[in-house]
This record gives sequence, C-alpha cells and structure tokens, in this order.
Amino acid sequence: MLDKIKELSQLLNESYSEKSVVTVLSDFFAEHYNSNLCNLVLNSEYTSNNKLYPLYKYSKVIGYLEFDKTTTELESFLDTTLYMISLKIQNLVLSERMQKAIDFQHSMKNIAKIIETQYELRYIIPLLGEMIDKFVQNHLIYIFIKEDTHAFKLMWPNTCKETKIFDIINAEPLKRVTIEGFGIFPLVSENKVLGYIVTKNIDSKLTLKEIEYLEELSNQAATTINRANVYAEILKHATLDALTGFYNRRQLEERIKQEFSSSQRQKTPLCGIMTDIDHFKNVNDTYGHAVGDLVLKTVSKVIRSQLREYDVAGRYGGEEFALLLPFTKLNEAKMVAERLRDSIEKTKIDISEVNSESSDKEISVTISLGIYELKETDNEEDLLKNADKALYQAKGTGRNRVIIYE
Ligand code: GH3
Ligand code: MG
Ligand code: MG
Repeated sequence: MLDKIKELSQLLNESYSEKSVVTVLSDFFAEHYNSNLCNLVLNSEYTSNNKLYPLYKYSKVIGYLEFDKTTTELESFLDTTLYMISLKIQNLVLSERMQKAIDFQHSMKNIAKIIETQYELRYIIPLLGEMIDKFVQNHLIYIFIKEDTHAFKLMWPNTCKETKIFDIINAEPLKRVTIEGFGIFPLVSENKVLGYIVTKNIDSKLTLKEIEYLEELSNQAATTINRANVYAEILKHATLDALTGFYNRRQLEERIKQEFSSSQRQKTPLCGIMTDIDHFKNVNDTYGHAVGDLVLKTVSKVIRSQLREYDVAGRYGGEEFALLLPFTKLNEAKMVAERLRDSIEKTKIDISEVNSESSDKEISVTISLGIYELKETDNEEDLLKNADKALYQAKGTGRNRVIIYE
C-alpha cells in the first residue's frame, strides 16, 4: 500500500489542472483497484446512488469522488489517501482562482488604459463587451447606454432578441438585481444611471465571483462612459454653432479641407452651396432680434432635415450658410438646392411665443442659393468663392432662387 500511496502522490504532483487530476485518478484506480471513478464533483450538496467519498477542506466537505464500483481494498486505500487527494484538489482550485484573479487584474488594467486613451463610446463599448465576454462564461452579455432621449440603446452586440430585457431596464432598476435569469448591472456615475450591463444565464447562474467582477467592471466602465459623455459635450460646443447646430466657421474650414482632398484623391464630385436668408434685416427690424434668432434656428433645422448624413452644413456668417455635398454632381446639387428653397418658402414659423406683441402669429422667409461644382484644376478656395458669386447673382436677380455658377 505504501508504494501505491507514493505512486499516487507522485502522479498528483505532476498534474496541473482539475482535468488532469481526474484522468490521473481514473487511470490509477482502474489499474490498481479495478474500480471505476466516474466523477469528481466540487459540490458539497451533490447526491447520487453511486458510492461517494467526500473531499475535505479542513473539516468541511468540498465535494466527492464518485465510484460506480468499489472494493474493500479501495475503501481502505481511500481512508488513508483521501486527505492527500483533497489537498491536491484544494491547491488546484486555489491556483485556478488565482489565475482568474490575475486575469481580472489584467482586465482592470485594460479598462484603466481605455479610460486614459479613449474618449469615444463607439470604441469604448465594444472593448468593454469583449472583455466581459471573456470573463463571464456561459452568459450572454449586453450593454445598454442611455441616449439624450433617455431611452436605453443597445450598444453591444448588434442585436438582442430578449425583448424582456427592455421591459426590465426601462422599469429602471437602479440597483444591481438578478431577475428571471438576467443579471442587471447599472452603470452609475455621479448618481446618474448611464446605462446597464446585462447578463443572461445560458445554463448556469452567475457565480459570486463573477458578480463581484461585474460590479467592479461596471464601476470602472461608468467612469469611462461619463468621461466620454462630457468629452462629447465639450467637443460639440467647440465645433458646432450654438444657435444653428451647424459647424462653426473654424470647423467648416476643416471640413472643406477634408472634403476637397478626398474629392481630389478619389476623383469623386463635390458641390458647394452658399445660401443666405433674404431680407433678414427686415425680420430683425420688424419683429426683434429674438424672432430673428428663431428664424435662423428654424431655417437651419429645415436645411439639415433635407440633407444626407454625410453632407456638411456650416454657419458661414450671420444668416449665411455653406453646404458641402460630397459625391454629388451639379444636376443633383441643383435639385437639392431647389428642394431647400422650396421647403423654406413653405415653412411657417410660429413667432407668437417669442414675440407676443406682434399682430403676426406666423411668418415665413425665403432663401437665395448659389451652387458650384468643383473642377479638377480648382483649389480649395474656389468651391465656396464661386458658389458665393452665384449667390450674389441670385440676390441681384430677384432673390428666392437658385443660381449655378458658370
Ligand atoms: P439680403 O436679402 O440681401 O441678404 O438682405 P439681408 O437683410 O438678409 O442682408 P443683410 O446682410 O443686410 O442683413 C443681415 C442681418 O442679419 C444683419 C444682422 O444683424 C443679422 N444677423 C446676423 N447674425 C444674426 C444672429 O445671430 N441673430 C439675429 N437675430 N440676427 C443676425
Ligand atoms: Mg441676407
Ligand atoms: Mg448675409
């Protein structure tokens, strides 16, 4: 028996994972005791019709060796060796736990790195999603972020078939909860819920350790997301005109540079439109500056709604706007301009809230537009300079019209 104990001890010392311990033990018991080890369970509440031998940690049962066939020799061998086997298994569990803790530290370091280097949610969220995916196995992971509209938008992954989740998070559980197979982890920063990390059980519940990880990750992530939101807000103010939401003059110049060079490089058409509100001074003089501002706001809103997402709209001066239409030929730009002119003319602007003294409840304005399509031999300034010349012509020939620079 002593030889066998020595042999087993040697074998166990050479195994480095739970799996290899199971193989070693099965082979060993099959060879020496003609017994079949059918299971090693690390669950103290496990029950079975087979013979179970408890594994201990100090005096506490941590699991069982399960045999479907035993002999008295095996029993007495186990009597003397179970404690040694338990110790080995304890060590393994411990080292696997340590490995997980090391992985967790790595992952936290990654998050810290993201916090320092990334300011945009569209980069941050996928990184976070992948990180959690790696960590929390046997669960589906979803990340939701609160939008300006206060609705929660799925940011990771692209789809979520669990319609139930939306009900749960829209009911705003502000605290962490596990409910109906979901784990809901709020992303809270400065007392505001910015979003949720949601887990969905596939075949097992979250372990306590995983819950701890997710809580820690949520805290870190919330700080990052908050910072990204603040950054986006600052960026918006630095690049957008406050009244119209169009690019400000400085940012417009940047965008002209970009669109000019990409049009030249890729040999794609680019049109510029300059547009100016007709007799705008009259609006200010008749109804006051506040109404003037409202008109500017409304006109810019209508213009934006008529443009494609990648079209560029900038506030060039007071009531003068510059539009860049990439991938657009002259005849298409002409249609766009005509559509803009038409929809502004038809827009009724309710001024009653801004100027209650005026007898006019609604007013409307018109715009004049000049268009130019960039030529290969042109330089950057030609785009808006020539569009502006066409605009000047439009003003000179009666206003409320579109003129193409020839
Ligand atoms: P035209 O048809 O030739 O363009 O005539 P206009 O009156 O629109 O042109 P003008 O350039 O003489 O007047 C533009 C006015 O726009 C003058 C200026 O006070 C006003 N303006 C510029 N920026 C703003 C603004 O931010 N808010 C308001 N309310 N008015 C502005
Ligand atoms: Mg004007
Ligand atoms: Mg003007």
